[in-house]
Amino acid sequence: MSPVPAFHPPARTLMGPGPSPVSPDVLAALAKPTLGHLDPVFVGLMDEVKGLLQQTFRTENRLTMPVSGPGTAGMEGTVSNLVEPGTTVVVCRNGVFGERLRQMVERVGGVAVMVETEWGRAVDPDDLRQTLAATPGAEVVAFVHAETSTGALSDAAALAAVAREHECLTICDTVTSLGGVPVEVDAWGLDAVYSGTQKCLSAPPGLSPVTYSDRALDRVRQRATPVASWFLDVSLVAGYWDPAGGTKRAYHHTAPVNMIYALHEALRRLQAEGLEAAWARHAQMHAALAAGLDALGLEFIVPAGERLPQLNAVYIPEGVDDADTRRQLLDGYGLEIGGGLGDLAGKAWRIGLMGEGARPETVRLCLGALGEVLGRDGALGAAEPLLAEAVTA
Ligand SMILES: *Cc1c(COP(=O)(O)O)cnc(C)c1O
Repeated sequence: MSPVPAFHPPARTLMGPGPSPVSPDVLAALAKPTLGHLDPVFVGLMDEVKGLLQQTFRTENRLTMPVSGPGTAGMEGTVSNLVEPGTTVVVCRNGVFGERLRQMVERVGGVAVMVETEWGRAVDPDDLRQTLAATPGAEVVAFVHAETSTGALSDAAALAAVAREHECLTICDTVTSLGGVPVEVDAWGLDAVYSGTQKCLSAPPGLSPVTYSDRALDRVRQRATPVASWFLDVSLVAGYWDPAGGTKRAYHHTAPVNMIYALHEALRRLQAEGLEAAWARHAQMHAALAAGLDALGLEFIVPAGERLPQLNAVYIPEGVDDADTRRQLLDGYGLEIGGGLGDLAGKAWRIGLMGEGARPETVRLCLGALGEVLGRDGALGAAEPLLAEAVTA
């Protein structure tokens, strides 16, 4: 048998809903020699990663770490730790990821009470208030800050404030928001928050940064039943990532050492740019892309004011074939954009401007390619003044 040849991925520009483009520096970090997961030098790096994550999440929470698994692992972890059999959880659903939260709550034996929001809209804090008023036993509120299936941004600060009025803890999904729009864990009083590396942090997929408030950890300590998942039980993994004063780090599972190098480099780059500057860059690139999409006659799913800069969902124009268009973009331009998810499958495109993907070059590539494939003019002309403004700002 002849040996299997080495794999060489083609050049792509990733402008879908994730993964996002990864910078050469982050890829180079992945290729550095693997250290033992309890090597003192690696342990020093873990402390730095924790500090960088605290800065990125804007929190002083001690238990702040990357879960070894993609965003979905962070989601399942926060749900598994905060929800016990019989716990009533109010779950806000305005897209695919709110629905995933509901399923996880029910799988660990919780009772999910839904706040339903039309797809493409932000969750209305008054709807949450009404549901909580009608659900006296509720203990936890779970919601998605940035709904990647539709491109809607909910007001996490307002939702958390309503949850607190009713003495509920919050589980907040910041997978797509972290690094792209403001996320203020402490100022907003969020309790169990998870994210992912492959969206606006621009590291490869595979880690899920999480942070837990003291209130959330108290709840975990007071559980009547052990967390059903051994791997995701925060009180066990804390012995590795956050050992109590003076205790030695204990083996829990073998950390994905090289991925943590990559996350460190990605967070370091974000810190060097400045979080506020990164938020501004996402907003500026979104304004330019939106002007171009508008010139192409493409209509946004989410009303202005509730849109995520980093995820632009537009309706596919009538008579245009979804799969064929995306194939032409991929084959002809090396450009990946996303299709619709859930109710929007076949009806929408999702164009990501995440992390390293939120740059003038990617906006130009996308508008130029889409204009050619659709046979419509004017996109670049509409975007260019905004791009010029952004670059000189
Ligand atoms: C991508 C995403 C997830 C899941 O992350 P994975 O890394 O794909 O597991 C969860 N929530 C939201 C809002 C997302 O965009």
